[in-house]
Amino acid sequence: MNPRDLPLPLDSLPGITPHRLELLGKLGITTLGELLLHLPRGYVDLSDQRPITALTPGEVQTVQGEIVELDSRSLPTGGFVASAVISDDGVTVLEGVWFNQPYATRRFRYGQRVAFTGKPRWYRDHWQMSNPHVQILEGSGPTRPGVLPIYPLTEDLRADVLRSLIARAVDLHAAAVPDCLPPSLRQREGWPSLAEALRQIHCPTSLAETAAARQRLLYEQLFVLQTALALRRRELSDRQQAPRLPVTPLIDERIRRLFPFRLTQDQNRAIAEVCADLAKDRPMQRLLQADVGAGKTAVAVYALLVAVANKYQAALMAPTEVLARQHAHTLDRYLAHSRVRRVLLTGALTARERREALEGLRQGQIDLVVGTQALAQEGIAFARLGLVVVDEQHKFGVHQRARLRRLGHSPHYLVMTATPIPRTVTLTVFGDLDLTLMRELPPGRQPVVTRWLDPSQRDWLYQQLQAALAEGRQAYVVCPLVEDTGQSSLRSASSTYKELCAGPLRDYAVGLLHGQQEEEVKADIMERFRRREIDVLVSTSVVEVGVDVPNATWMIVEDAERFGLSQLHQLRGRVSRGTSPGFCYLFANPAGDEAAERLRVFLRTSDGFTLAEEDARLRGAGELFGTRQHGTGEIVDLGPGGLQLLERARRDAFEVVAADPQLARPEHAALRRAVFEQYGETLELPEVG
Ligand code: ADP
Ligand code: MG
Repeated sequence: MNPRDLPLPLDSLPGITPHRLELLGKLGITTLGELLLHLPRGYVDLSDQRPITALTPGEVQTVQGEIVELDSRSLPTGGFVASAVISDDGVTVLEGVWFNQPYATRRFRYGQRVAFTGKPRWYRDHWQMSNPHVQILEGSGPTRPGVLPIYPLTEDLRADVLRSLIARAVDLHAAAVPDCLPPSLRQREGWPSLAEALRQIHCPTSLAETAAARQRLLYEQLFVLQTALALRRRELSDRQQAPRLPVTPLIDERIRRLFPFRLTQDQNRAIAEVCADLAKDRPMQRLLQADVGAGKTAVAVYALLVAVANKYQAALMAPTEVLARQHAHTLDRYLAHSRVRRVLLTGALTARERREALEGLRQGQIDLVVGTQALAQEGIAFARLGLVVVDEQHKFGVHQRARLRRLGHSPHYLVMTATPIPRTVTLTVFGDLDLTLMRELPPGRQPVVTRWLDPSQRDWLYQQLQAALAEGRQAYVVCPLVEDTGQSSLRSASSTYKELCAGPLRDYAVGLLHGQQEEEVKADIMERFRRREIDVLVSTSVVEVGVDVPNATWMIVEDAERFGLSQLHQLRGRVSRGTSPGFCYLFANPAGDEAAERLRVFLRTSDGFTLAEEDARLRGAGELFGTRQHGTGEIVDLGPGGLQLLERARRDAFEVVAADPQLARPEHAALRRAVFEQYGETLELPEVG
């Protein structure tokens, strides 16, 4: 539903005074719709009401009685406890206790009639509830069994006032809120109407009912998002013209000859899927998701060369200049004897070189350009752009792609993700793309030995490292910071570099690489590392993605708790690229349980797809975008079963758009309005109709 969709103003609701209007404003509630969408943060279950003599431990129950004793005392351990004792027969008692809340019992008086709701336990010689939910009953009569919603409140707005205002709004207006779910879909899928769901959420008769109603609202949100994605998908693909870039057997044979290895089955399958798209006159919109080291570059190169073979230009974009340069280098190797004209567009070019490159692209004298995302931002003109490949760009979502279209025409489009990403994200942030998965790694890969070391093992580690270097291996040492800051005890790349040069690695060539260096310096250091003139590269996470130096088999990560799971996976991916076994050693001081658990997950599994799901699970949420107007990346907790709900919403939404691409049918009017209000701008949806 759309909170602005009700025509009546908030103060038309009986009971809304100017003062209350102001208080509601503090909660962000300015319309009737927003009031209806002010959802309870929980419920108190009042259904189980009992005399004190019939209580059972551990289940939520409600007792009504009179206050017979009020007390507060300090605990020997230093805390403070406030207590209120009630009795319902003058003999048996139940004590409510509140820890470290000196004011909890302030509002009570002797003899007052109240109801406590909570889980009782038997304490010494009487029943006790800690932090019970309290209702003051005087004047309001006995509490009725049922379920009481608990709302987020603001100071001075009483809970019972807000509750009755919302209940009134439900009575008077819920039925008038436009429902985004088309009636036919609602019937088929068995969803309650929006009005019914709002009633169940705000004025429930059972807890089970509230859970189902919340599912309904969440489903509706997801359904609106998926409808937006389906429309965008249509706009990008079905309504645009792209050049057909077919692959002939001759082209295929020529490209394959360039690779120094046989492509894996997964690579071949990915290439087949990409080629099927390229042969169509609709722009490819494909996401290639592969585990680290699976060999995405080869798939990208194949696609780029198909475009070039068809006399179109192609662009390859990387997230960093280091990576762009590496790709240019790889292409140089594969294309040493070809006539494909290429250029590497980086910040290191002179003004003149840059002008020439841009001119070459505009005139069509250059076939292939490699660069960073800046390619998309600078509005570079192409003569005949046929394909854009975006590498290793986890965050390259719908927004950035919208910008890409300024590159002109409607090129085919392939995005390759840095790390496997959770399915919730594939279905949302990348939800307008087709998906190709590559799980298989090239043959001969050795597993990476991963260990979390104790600080006392540092000397041992450096001895092992020296031995490996003596055998001709290379290593990375990755730190979370560039420089010491004085404020944190984290290791910086600069000081680690100095330490290693002065001590344990005195006899080896050590290099320092970080994001604050000039591009030329970075390029030079990477090149020397590649040529084995540098044995150990101390760096920040700039080597995180994509860097490919198969002889480097050692990765030491300092303060590993500072890196996310996918970053760690990427870092480890740097040392599992050849046929020698890799080693990944972590030092870490995780602050909380979650950080420690993340590291343990990382030690346990090396499968990127598993790690991605675990990461999502630990963070308890998928990162969905724009579930509010113009919102970007708001975290929505889908909760258990959320993925199925998301998949269901996606299926239903794509069906609706396939049947009614303009959402022109009357039953889709509310949906259409919600989609454009919430996503029209973010997703650059064309105004239809
Ligand atoms: P990623 O998918 O992480 O980008 P890359 O494309 O960088 O992986 O490939 C990782 C390494 O595997 C590179 O050194 C590459 O040359 C090598 N490689 C790729 N495909 C194959 C293959 N089919 N057989 C053997 N080695 C391969
Ligand atoms: Mg790569």
